[in-house]
Amino acid sequence: MSRIAYVNGRYRPLRKAMVSVEDRGLQFADGVYEVCEVRGGQIVDERRHMERFDRSLAELRIARPMVPTALAVVMRETIARNRVRDGIVYVQITRGAARRDFPFPDAVATKPTLIVTARGNDIARLERLASEGVAVITMPDIRWGRVDIKSVALLPNVLAKQAARDQGAHEAWLTDRQGRVTEGASSNAWIVSRDGTILTHPLGHDILPGVTRSVVIKVIKAQGLAFEERAFTVEEAYQAREAFVTSASQIVLPVVAIDGRPVGNGAPGLVAAALRREYYRFAETS
Ligand code: PMP
Repeated sequence: MSRIAYVNGRYRPLRKAMVSVEDRGLQFADGVYEVCEVRGGQIVDERRHMERFDRSLAELRIARPMVPTALAVVMRETIARNRVRDGIVYVQITRGAARRDFPFPDAVATKPTLIVTARGNDIARLERLASEGVAVITMPDIRWGRVDIKSVALLPNVLAKQAARDQGAHEAWLTDRQGRVTEGASSNAWIVSRDGTILTHPLGHDILPGVTRSVVIKVIKAQGLAFEERAFTVEEAYQAREAFVTSASQIVLPVVAIDGRPVGNGAPGLVAAALRREYYRFAETS
């Protein structure tokens, strides 16, 4: 079955789905996106993702190309046409196509571009990663100063992820000038410190406010676990009892090695496993 993409009002086979060469997403990475998990054909945490999407759009002053209820219909239709039961739905909005020039083009003459795709996940692979745990490497965070906006300008993330893959790791943890971990290339980063406190970087301009992160915090609070939103150093991560990453497509994945050193006893931790198990009791499906 060929995959179907929605682009600016039409559902088309992927290879025929096109945007202009002057699209500002292509020319300037002038666009934002969201990725929602699809589970059993339902969208997980859609409201939270769409709230973040609206915030990203507002921060960049990009107009919504359609009202939220219409976008919800397009997302469901794209999931259905691609027969996705367990996977992801991807939504991108760019400032649209206009003569290449840095300032914003005329907002009346330029319609934002809307792209929606959906695809199935390799569930067996994700389950294997969750049960075996993954390795991460650390490297300097060279991204811009507003990574809380979910923009499509992901080149530093691409390079970090590739560096991880080149070293046989699953993810790269990005570090600031003080040697503290901000987040992963495509996930939020967490440790369980030596004294048993769960730590993750506080919200601000230097991390993406992960939807999975916010739901995991609800799980942690409901379970009464010790938790602090504070940046941790690479050194603390090396000494941690446990480590894990969170993202919409992977939920909670245990980290068993950092820069080639085993985390704890080198096996997935109990806290990560419990958070993963409990996740869907706190997530919203629609
Ligand atoms: N940080 C970055 C840089 C990401 O790309 C992602 C995944 N989109 C996340 C964190 C996790 O966010 P979420 O839980 O909303 O998928």
